[in-house]
Amino acid sequence: MAEKKERTMTKTPAGGNGNTTTQATTTAAPPSERRQRPRPKISQTPPAPPPPPRLDDYEPIVGRPELDELRFLAQRLRGKTVKMVNSTAVGGGVAEILNRLIPLMNELEVPTKWEVITGGNDFFEVTKGFHNALHGGEYNVTKEVLEIFMMYNEQNRQRMSFDEDLFVIHDPQPVGLIKSRQNTRGKWIWRCHIDLSNPHPDVWGFLRPIVDQYDAAIFSSPSFARQLEIPQYLFFPCIDPLSEKNKDIDESFVQKVCEDFGIDRKRPIITQISRFDRLKDPVGVIQAYKMVKKYVDCQLVLAGGGATDDPEGAVVLQEVMDEAGDDPDIIILNLPPWSALEINALQRASTIIVQKSLKEGFGLTVTEGLWKGKPVVGGAVGGIPTQIVHKLTGVLVHSVEGCAYQIRYLLTHPEFAAELGRNGKEHVKENFLMTSNVKRWLLLYQIMLGMTQPMDPQAK
Ligand code: UDP
Repeated sequence: MAEKKERTMTKTPAGGNGNTTTQATTTAAPPSERRQRPRPKISQTPPAPPPPPRLDDYEPIVGRPELDELRFLAQRLRGKTVKMVNSTAVGGGVAEILNRLIPLMNELEVPTKWEVITGGNDFFEVTKGFHNALHGGEYNVTKEVLEIFMMYNEQNRQRMSFDEDLFVIHDPQPVGLIKSRQNTRGKWIWRCHIDLSNPHPDVWGFLRPIVDQYDAAIFSSPSFARQLEIPQYLFFPCIDPLSEKNKDIDESFVQKVCEDFGIDRKRPIITQISRFDRLKDPVGVIQAYKMVKKYVDCQLVLAGGGATDDPEGAVVLQEVMDEAGDDPDIIILNLPPWSALEINALQRASTIIVQKSLKEGFGLTVTEGLWKGKPVVGGAVGGIPTQIVHKLTGVLVHSVEGCAYQIRYLLTHPEFAAELGRNGKEHVKENFLMTSNVKRWLLLYQIMLGMTQPMDPQAK
């Protein structure tokens, strides 16, 4: 009997030793209908992070000249001190980037400290409200809310010292530290990682005069930037090619992960890795797959996370399972957050990576897929067109039908698909790797410290 193949990672006692592991289980079909499947085990707790890489570790990836360039740029900055401040040491993309960026800067002898602001629950409730409101959500900005925000910023400001040459303040939470500017000699940069294209007017109206006190602001996309009195710079998000998510892994591990999840590597594999969120359009991906499947035999892997602790994620996961019906070639995986190696393996096993978002920030899953040399089919939204140059580094789609058409075309034109993959990987190497990010920082520091001038676009 056909079985619906969605496996969610649930906690079950591991064989006999009393430990708990997180196991893939088949949950959609009633027990009597469940087929015996291998149960992949993923640790229930996050594994310890590996030690940060050294600059030389990147040489096989980006080449010696690229590293020489970084060392050259850093030479003039040697001894200039930097303090970076954000609001969390673990979890989230910003902490992930800082964990890698800061050791590299120190290795380049640009002494860089990282400090994390502290606050009570009331502060983080306010900053979460701000975060959602800056993404266009509703929020009631009261006098009390603003006081809580400023009070914790002030507490942190009093606690911290500001003796460096450069200060980089990440995101809105610590933005109020700029009040120390008058007593410092350093330059202040606000690095905004979030999408400000449609901010709540009251929240942005409160933050903007604070941001305008900085010497410069950095955004991740031109569309995220706002009108400001200060110079603005564009820094793309980046991936680390040496992270668990992106490093080269043994083919045997890729094979094992596929076996564990019941994925057949002899037939094409189409994969979308995404939180179970309607804006990622997982249901649209299934509809596109069904259209393709009429002509080309293939499997669809939808891997995501967060559906267990996010009520909306659970609803979307259910919608996805309903749309999947009892097709045994649709494999739905709800993974724990520390599944980087498994995600890496799934991406590498894929014939095509899809990211059919309806709205998107930058779309790091696209970067990750391109980096693995895969043909990527992406929705033409947010930062995806920055990464996918249509028919050169991937393909852009605007509808379920378009998505189906492109998947089918790529499955039946493997040479074209391989060419897209090769180009896509080069594009990431040039623009979206950690080393490119280090280069941007070094150049910006030089500009900020008056060591070099930004090019005047009007100059002849
Ligand atoms: N990701 C993950 N587990 C999941 C789903 C996504 O680790 O179950 C990772 C994915 O590999 C990528 C990031 O989370 O690195 C998602 O970033 P993206 O910019 O694509 O989307 P966002 O979730 O930030 O909207």
